Amino acid sequence: MAIRIDGKELAAQCRAETAERVAALRARGITPGLAVVLVGDDPASQIYVRNKEKACAEVGIRSFPVLFPSGTTQEQLLETIDQLNANENVHGILVQLPLPKQIDKNAVLERILPQKDADGFHPIHAGRLLNGEDTVVPCTPRGVLRMLKSAGVPLRGKEAVVVGRSAIVGRPMAALLLREDCTVTICHSRTEDLAAHTRRADILVAACGQPQLITGEMVKPGAAVIDVGIHRVDGHLVGDVDAASVEPVAGWLSPVPGGVGPMTIAMLLQNTVEAAEHALS
Ligand code: NAD
Repeated sequence: MAIRIDGKELAAQCRAETAERVAALRARGITPGLAVVLVGDDPASQIYVRNKEKACAEVGIRSFPVLFPSGTTQEQLLETIDQLNANENVHGILVQLPLPKQIDKNAVLERILPQKDADGFHPIHAGRLLNGEDTVVPCTPRGVLRMLKSAGVPLRGKEAVVVGRSAIVGRPMAALLLREDCTVTICHSRTEDLAAHTRRADILVAACGQPQLITGEMVKPGAAVIDVGIHRVDGHLVGDVDAASVEPVAGWLSPVPGGVGPMTIAMLLQNTVEAAEHALS
């Protein structure tokens, strides 16, 4: 039976560490600030934004909510990013995705000053991460790595398979695992014979956005399986992993809910505090 990697408990520990770092900054007269920009009225995005603001308040980070109607133009949004870039009380900036169709997401993400990029989505960070350098790491993959390390999962020289190649999860996850000396395979929607790849994985990260796609027969006995997916199916939350069939085979498994989700928010707070610390140095 797989050991459960409890993201909720680990996230609470991470938040406590962050709260200490915030207190140290406040003692020096700096209150870390995170601007959270939301365009439109997508209900899921509204919930995510509210949760992020709540989490900021809990650790002593000041949040600056910036809410725009769905008809906002790209120019208006870029102008706001420029103002936030120039605002010295704002150390981190986050633009909630997805953005409405009329706005070029990349133009907006690239306008954020790299040193204020709380999500680590700026191409400068993506490039540095791929080079194996220290940089701002996107919150979800950063959280996944922390989960693997805290569970004591061996990484060096091991086979890691990441299912999903998005710019915010799959690709940076693969780059991080490579930086940890794993041998990394990235699978995606066009991969032929997905199971042949996943069965080789000592570390399997499922980030494909397909409910319960990864089943027990696709998993190597003893593997560490991290489930990034989150879906509501028939009123229940499920991940990209079929937990019932994977649990008896895997060595470690992260649950949904209570796995990667809380870690993502905890890493956002950490990225924000680190941005404030760097601004001081
Ligand atoms: P995405 O839709 O941008 O990317 C999905 C990726 O999976 C694509 O690269 C695609 O090629 C691949 N894919 C799709 N079907 C596949 C298949 N049948 N076989 C192999 N690969 C396949 O999604 P994303 O933003 O990377 O998110 C992935 C999942 O993680 C989603 O369920 C999302 O809700 C969840 N997510 C959770 C958190 C969190 O904090 N828990 C954060 C981000 C994303």
